[in-house]
Amino acid sequence: MLIETFMRKQLGLKAHAVTKVEETERYLIIHIDRRGGRLLRCGVCRQRCRKVHSVRKAREWRDLSMRKLPMKLRYRPRRVECPRCGLRVEDFPWAEPWARVTTTLSNAVARLAQELSWQGTARQYGLNWKSVATIVKRAVEYGLRHRARPPVHVIGIDEVSRRKGQVYLTVVYDLERRVLLWVGDGRTEEAVEPFFTKEMGRRRCQTLRVVCMDMWAAYANLVREYATNAQILFDRFHIVKHLNETVDAVRRELWRQLTAKERSTFKGTRWLLLKNPWNLTGDQKERLSTLVRWNAPIVRAYYLKEAFQLFWGYKQPKRAKDHLEKWMRSAMSSRLEPFKKFVRTLRTHLDGILSWTTQRVSNGAVEGMNNKIKSISHRSFGFRTAENFIAAIYHCCARLPLPIER
Ligand SMILES: [Zn+2]
Repeated sequence: MLIETFMRKQLGLKAHAVTKVEETERYLIIHIDRRGGRLLRCGVCRQRCRKVHSVRKAREWRDLSMRKLPMKLRYRPRRVECPRCGLRVEDFPWAEPWARVTTTLSNAVARLAQELSWQGTARQYGLNWKSVATIVKRAVEYGLRHRARPPVHVIGIDEVSRRKGQVYLTVVYDLERRVLLWVGDGRTEEAVEPFFTKEMGRRRCQTLRVVCMDMWAAYANLVREYATNAQILFDRFHIVKHLNETVDAVRRELWRQLTAKERSTFKGTRWLLLKNPWNLTGDQKERLSTLVRWNAPIVRAYYLKEAFQLFWGYKQPKRAKDHLEKWMRSAMSSRLEPFKKFVRTLRTHLDGILSWTTQRVSNGAVEGMNNKIKSISHRSFGFRTAENFIAAIYHCCARLPLPIER
């Protein structure tokens, strides 16, 4: 078999033929031309067109390498007269209309970019960083246009930070399919609104049953406005995180109140707890009792935290509510300011917290995805623009389809 025929079959060409395979020092160039009078297709709607209007100047497309030599396709595109679209550039079976690389190469690059940084991917394929960025962004655009949109019932809204907590993005997951649905720049109500209005739309919002989110978040109103059938559920992982922060606040408060001298006593006395009481000297006994007295608020905070956690085990809404009410009363009388603050927040979010008893879902299901986003940010030394970071997140977490290789 001639190399030209072999290449034509490899490229899956029907209306085009390979006229020559040229080997230069740096490239293997595949020259392509029209094959007889076969009909070409419109580049927009792919309809077969009878009339060729004109022949344009030659264009090149990078392809996968053949052994060591990078391969290029060279062809003079035709402009066709499409009955539907008018004058258009023809459809290329080997590439998307806009692309300067073949679909086979861009898909290979896109797949590698899900595992490596854009820099690393570029190095592997001998491309520059910008080309990889373009390929990924185009792949994401294509994927978003062509992805399946089954009805969504349970979603989790969360935030991720870019550049060490200075800039925030909001991410929305389908918690049933464990897939990323949407990423938005910012974490305000206005930033998240397009998810409901554009990505979902009024009609698709109606199937939403549960929306899982942080009680500190700004978008509860959006859920009430657009997802009228959905129950808000304040995320278990976030509540536990805030609870831990509350315990921490008690500890920090206490530390602040101690004088420098007392702090040094505190630091040097932890070993006292490990000693047998009957081996302690009078002085040590006194220091230990001071230590225990100082620690009392921390111990109270700790018990409160542990007692709260029982809430997650209740299956009956009534019992869960009773437990929470009792807990809030004891926290309010704990004389621990951070806990009082925590209770006030719980009070205003009670319904969404109690939803847990009937809807046992949490953003913990997609914890791995959040970690993945962190690693994407790290391996690229933090993306400089939100646009690039958003594209990379979609690319790695949304399970988008890649363009079909024909
Ligand atoms: Zn057309």
